[in-house]
Amino acid sequence: MKRILLAAALIAVTTPIAAQSPSWLDPYRPIAQRLIADSQSNDATWQRLAELTDTFGPRLSGSDNLEKAIDWAVETMKKDGLVNVHKEPVMVPKWVRGDESLELIAPVRQKLPMLGLGDAVGTPAGGLEADVIVVKNFDELEKRAADVKGKIVLFNAEFVNYGTTNVYRTAGPSRAAKLGAIAAIVRSIGPMGLRTPHTGATSYTDDAPKIPAAAIPAEDANRFQRLQDRGVTIRMRLSMQAHFEADAQSYNVVGELRGRELPNEIVVVGGHLDSWDPGTGASDDAGGCVVTWDALRLMKKLGLQPRRTVRVVLFTNEENGDRGGTGYRDAHLAELKDHVMLMESDGGIFDPEGFGFTGPDAARTTVAAIASLLKSIGADPIKGGGGGADIGPAGTAGKIPMLSHLAEANYFVIHHTPADTIDRITPRQAANNAAAIAVMTYVIADLPWRLGTEK
Ligand SMILES: [Zn+2]
Repeated sequence: MKRILLAAALIAVTTPIAAQSPSWLDPYRPIAQRLIADSQSNDATWQRLAELTDTFGPRLSGSDNLEKAIDWAVETMKKDGLVNVHKEPVMVPKWVRGDESLELIAPVRQKLPMLGLGDAVGTPAGGLEADVIVVKNFDELEKRAADVKGKIVLFNAEFVNYGTTNVYRTAGPSRAAKLGAIAAIVRSIGPMGLRTPHTGATSYTDDAPKIPAAAIPAEDANRFQRLQDRGVTIRMRLSMQAHFEADAQSYNVVGELRGRELPNEIVVVGGHLDSWDPGTGASDDAGGCVVTWDALRLMKKLGLQPRRTVRVVLFTNEENGDRGGTGYRDAHLAELKDHVMLMESDGGIFDPEGFGFTGPDAARTTVAAIASLLKSIGADPIKGGGGGADIGPAGTAGKIPMLSHLAEANYFVIHHTPADTIDRITPRQAANNAAAIAVMTYVIADLPWRLGTEK
């Protein structure tokens, strides 16, 4: 007896799990196991993602594809038995790519893989032709300022990470235009892929002319760097019909599982249903929409009704305008005080890696305890940086704790490319991510106290 007690005492001090396992968590263990087991027992999550991406394809803001996907989501949520399913109107920008091409003229002629950058202006009809100057960064651009006038500037910045290297796509074209460039080309923002160009929004400043802007694969950028280093003149012809049309009507999609005791308190999960146009937007962000939505489907299927309401929001127009996120904030301003937590999935649905969290430290401790229920599927780490482009506006306005679902793996290899299709994602990954979000969301919505009010 004494020896057993001693052993138990030793376990208590040497096992960190014990410190992370408060007794309030115990009733949630069997529930977490059920949610995980049920999700893993079939491929329903992956099949829903396949149906969405196969049927509607790419879902650019202002396109019929996106609006058809929105209507399908409303009908399908109703079939799932969710309540208060409806569309919330948002006006979105309508950028149209049109035909586009990039041709190498010298030292030899060759058609190049390319994608115009989102929100870019087009070229004059018939295109434009000019010599190319390759720079690795903005410092080099400034040093060679005298050579830029009348040229096409190619930014050949090697990928460090998305947040760092992205600046060449967003700010590069205007920086080049200020020095007299007539077009800008960026090395695609992402690690080396299989010679895939990556699109994504650019952003012009008011102090420079708007010039056409496109992306080429990393392999091509490297080649032109080598040619320039050897003193070879590079010449290209760029043709783009890109333009904006009048803003279009779109919608955020909302569905709920009403809370059994505190229905006015709301836990929000979601992703964005719009996507760029080259692939089918499976990882960015149909996957995020489906795994957050499936968290509600799983709870409903297992007869789990948490204390508070769980709401899924499929946002429109994240990619080039964030109108869905700002629209949600504006439409729900009066209700933000009742939002307990916001979670976004918009970073891939590969193997689960846990969650990012932003909020009070005591709430982080609660979230970390809940995450310990997800160790078997690898979703237990709690890191910093919770948030997302869609939930950010409401989260900031309402000072609401925010979580980001993390399952990134090779997300940035295929991000905004023709290769962003469901083939990169396995049914097991889809199931595990849906389960991770279901468990985290259910427990937060069901806690005996409101998340963020811990002492
Ligand atoms: Zn996204």
